[in-house]
Amino acid sequence: MHRHASGVLWVLLYVVIVLSPLVLMLIRPVPPGRPFIIEASIALGFVGLVMMAVQFALIARYPRMSAPFGIDVLLRYHRNIAGVALLFVILHPILLIIQNPALLAWLDPIGGTWASRTGAWAIYAFILLTLISVFRKQLRFSYEAWRFSHTFLGIAAVLFAHIHIHLAGRYTDVFWREGIIIAISLVMVGSFGFIRLVRPALVRRRPFEVAEVRPERGDVWSFSLKPQGHDGLSFMPGQYCYLKLNTPYSFDEHPFSIASSSERRDRLEFAIKELGDFTNRIGQVPPGTITYVDGPHGSFSPDLTPAPGYVFIAGGIGIGPFMSLLRSLADRGDPRPVMLFYGEKNWEITAFREELDELRKRMNLEIVYVLENPPEGWEGETGFVTEEVLRRHLPEERFHRHVFICGPNPMIDAVERALARVGFEEHQVSAERFNLV
Ligand SMILES: Cc1cc2nc3c(=O)[nH]c(=O)nc-3n(C[C@H](O)[C@H](O)[C@H](O)COP(=O)(O)OP(=O)(O)OC[C@H]3O[C@@H](n4cnc5c(N)ncnc54)[C@H](O)[C@@H]3O)c2cc1C
Repeated sequence: MHRHASGVLWVLLYVVIVLSPLVLMLIRPVPPGRPFIIEASIALGFVGLVMMAVQFALIARYPRMSAPFGIDVLLRYHRNIAGVALLFVILHPILLIIQNPALLAWLDPIGGTWASRTGAWAIYAFILLTLISVFRKQLRFSYEAWRFSHTFLGIAAVLFAHIHIHLAGRYTDVFWREGIIIAISLVMVGSFGFIRLVRPALVRRRPFEVAEVRPERGDVWSFSLKPQGHDGLSFMPGQYCYLKLNTPYSFDEHPFSIASSSERRDRLEFAIKELGDFTNRIGQVPPGTITYVDGPHGSFSPDLTPAPGYVFIAGGIGIGPFMSLLRSLADRGDPRPVMLFYGEKNWEITAFREELDELRKRMNLEIVYVLENPPEGWEGETGFVTEEVLRRHLPEERFHRHVFICGPNPMIDAVERALARVGFEEHQVSAERFNLV
């Protein structure tokens, strides 16, 4: 209840902040009468700009703000609402041009006045930032290059927009109005400072060191950390952390779901699959390497979704968070039934299958393996986790259970559709996507 109440308060605060510029326009002294279309254009520009500035706060990992939603939900909102903010920003000059076509010249990035030029730069930076995010894969931008350009263009766009508003001077003639605009800028600068300086400084106080890096099946490594000079991390099974090696201030940070039991604070483990430059090197990280752990984050946890039983559906390395869920439930002696569907390419690379057999003895766990390329003589399920596979195995009391899915995006999409056809409602299903961008 407390979580819901604080979620509602944050949503209200968001709405108030986003709409605050309209107060600027309504409270006297109001500039003398102009056509409605111009005022509407300015209102849209203001609201779009504030939404863009607040985007920085949404992803700053403020603990109080992310607690009621989970940072994964905030990241998804950040991504989805960006299109609306961009639309508002673009409508700002379009309405002005409809009113007076001569103003088309204001879109010239090197012509016009400083006021129009900085406005044009802000809009182009917003557009470029969005295009790079939407077409990152097609443009072959590495994650790191995307992240750098995203941050740089975001800051540039908001700053240019503020200079534009100040120079246009239409609603900043009174000091308190300018104050509101500056406060909005500070939300952006403060959030950037929080995530780049304050959070790393906090994380630095609680370092970990690599205890062991164990090879598992299928190019997966169990990356095991032990706390250095503190009592470890308290987390809910299913949550994830950002890992940074050697320095907490590095830009090179990667999110991984915790795979170890929440009941063991002396060890923190992650199941990491080799995929690119960082993960390919994880097997060679020497024991003793100092590692900084920013987390826990996320809301993909049965601790937040109580139910009489669970269905877990894993695809490939999506098994990572489920290892934490299963290890934790077993350590807690939790009697609730769990059914795990585990899809993999073949039996040889099915990570953790020996340990899953052991877990079956310690808890009420049923496992359905689904192999794309089964070995000779395989009598289990083959292909993918489809509606038919689900119907064949889900128990009668299936709708009392909450479903968790983690795996590649296409698999999550297909399983969500299959679950809907089986009869599950959206609120009975939670998914963790490893491809946030
Ligand atoms: C919430 C969450 C939990 C995850 N849990 C696990 C897990 O338990 N085990 C596991 O093996 N993988 C997990 N991943 C994926 C893991 O973060 C990426 O595989 C890893 O960062 C790839 O980095 P790379 O340099 O090796 O590969 P690259 O080739 O650089 O990247 C491959 C893809 O991974 C993503 N990626 C790369 N760097 C980052 C980053 N810093 N932040 C976010 N995404 C990035 C991008 O989509 C990129 O296209 C998780 C991802 C998220 C978002």
